Amino acid sequence: MTRHALFTAAAMMASAAATGASPGYAQSSTGQITVLYDAFGKDAAMRKDWGFSALVEVAGKRILFDTGDDRDIFAANVKAKGVDLNDLDFVVLSHRHSDHMAGLSHVLSVNPKVKIYAPQDGLGGIYGSSIPSSFYRKDGSLPPEMRYYDGRPPDILKLGRAWQDANIELIDKTTEIAPGITLIALVSETPGTRELKELSLAVNTPDGLVLVVGCSHPGIEKIVEAAAAINPKIHLLAGGFHLVVAPDDAIAKMVLTNYRKLARREDPFGLLQARRRDHP
Ligand SMILES: [Zn+2]
Ligand SMILES: [Zn+2]
Repeated sequence: MTRHALFTAAAMMASAAATGASPGYAQSSTGQITVLYDAFGKDAAMRKDWGFSALVEVAGKRILFDTGDDRDIFAANVKAKGVDLNDLDFVVLSHRHSDHMAGLSHVLSVNPKVKIYAPQDGLGGIYGSSIPSSFYRKDGSLPPEMRYYDGRPPDILKLGRAWQDANIELIDKTTEIAPGITLIALVSETPGTRELKELSLAVNTPDGLVLVVGCSHPGIEKIVEAAAAINPKIHLLAGGFHLVVAPDDAIAKMVLTNYRKLARREDPFGLLQARRRDHP
């Protein structure tokens, strides 16, 4: 179950009062985000559907972030936007929910060897996982046929993935995968998605951090907090915030809390522009 409250919180500008961190930077700040999958938008050539995908072009990289909810709709939207999926630096799959990953089969049909980053999601992981065989209790008094692997298990049990031949690298903890490009890994504590790991994309540019999120199941405030540890100046925050059923005052509080945390100011209204897209 995923619900989207998609925001474009443009220019969540913060003062550059860094607190000791000396982050690496990606090459430049020029770029654009092309939304490839959404239930909003003016472009009549784009098919609307629940889910999210965006081509993030920033710092000289072309990053596909999530792949939408339906393979054929995703393929049609990619075509409508004239995006070449052969020309990607890598793909980020934020989490395992189908409205973010179901278009991957189209990506692989076009570009089967593309590098894919996905969350290490434990035993629930459709992107594959592994677990030490020491996790289960052994009983040497049993005959071999009553024991796993005849009593001689491999040290590590490898669990399957939905796309066996895909070039997937699992991300367990927050990792800088290229200079200035970090995948923030956080786990949801919310009932319904508890223990779900989600990746967010943080690109550190000379103008500040470009932060792209999928569903924000771990909480957008926690994601922003983790991003601010890389660079407290957040230049752009885009994606799904999972606030579609939240009341207005809760949303306003979240925006203000994040802004104040980053800007350390009491009167953010002069700078903050947040465009809410799930209500008129
Ligand atoms: Zn989700
Ligand atoms: Zn979602």
